[in-house]
Amino acid sequence: QGTIVVQVRVAPIGEEYILLLADDRTEITRTEAMRNDFVANVSHELKTPVGAISLLAEAIDDAADDAEAVRRFAGRMHKEARRLGALVQDIIELSRLQGADVVQGGTEVDLNAVVAEAVDRNKLTAESRHIELSVGGNIGVPVYGDAELLTTALRNLIDNAIRYAPERSKVGVGLRVREGLATVSVTDQGPGITPDQQDRIFERFYRLDDARSRQTGGTGLGLSIVKHVISQHGGEVSVWSQPGQGSTFTVRLPEMEQEDGGATESVE
Ligand code: ADP
Repeated sequence: QGTIVVQVRVAPIGEEYILLLADDRTEITRTEAMRNDFVANVSHELKTPVGAISLLAEAIDDAADDAEAVRRFAGRMHKEARRLGALVQDIIELSRLQGADVVQGGTEVDLNAVVAEAVDRNKLTAESRHIELSVGGNIGVPVYGDAELLTTALRNLIDNAIRYAPERSKVGVGLRVREGLATVSVTDQGPGITPDQQDRIFERFYRLDDARSRQTGGTGLGLSIVKHVISQHGGEVSVWSQPGQGSTFTVRLPEMEQEDGGATESVE
């Protein structure tokens, strides 16, 4: 993408050369197309709850004499407003992340503390679904970055695990250092994700099951926020999953360079 491949055959020797030309124009057009796409998607996504709120306001107006109906419509209106709020928050977060290097003013970050905070922020949702949320392992080395952004990323992964898994199931968060990378994995016993969908779920607004995602309060932006945060930190996020066997999302981040240059292994 953004590259033109030209094949040149030099006769009569018959040797083949591949010429790669990076075409900046194509790159710019692509970025523009992505931006237009994003704006179109955002408008569409925002219109849904706004439209619903407007219809519900009318319904409340019409049912003014029926207290029970008013209460019901008001409840639904509240839910749509919450969804709208979550969408706006995610959109702002994502556009901030797509801008300049947000991790410029980073500091030494303890991932154990980040995970503890992310788990804490998901405790109530886990309790409401009777999900056993546990943390195991330890990361004995710091990473470099923005603790708040990393907390948001891990909170999103744990939040998904809790929302998509069945009630009374288990969600486990594992911490370790492997091959010089600080590794956090989030495992659930949910429906799983097919191989062809595993790449696509990190795209903005992509949902496997639209109805389910909307119902569980999803915005379709969570994983793309995770991907941006982690790549801004020089790391990567991947998924292992099989339909019917749950999913494991893994985040790998480079250890922060130590003064003495030595990398440390974690104590598990
Ligand atoms: P959403 O807000 O819809 O959850 P995400 O970007 O976080 O958006 O996730 C994209 C889609 O990937 C979801 O709609 C869901 O279909 C799928 N997905 C994400 N996490 C999981 C999971 N742990 N188990 C099963 N499906 C998942």
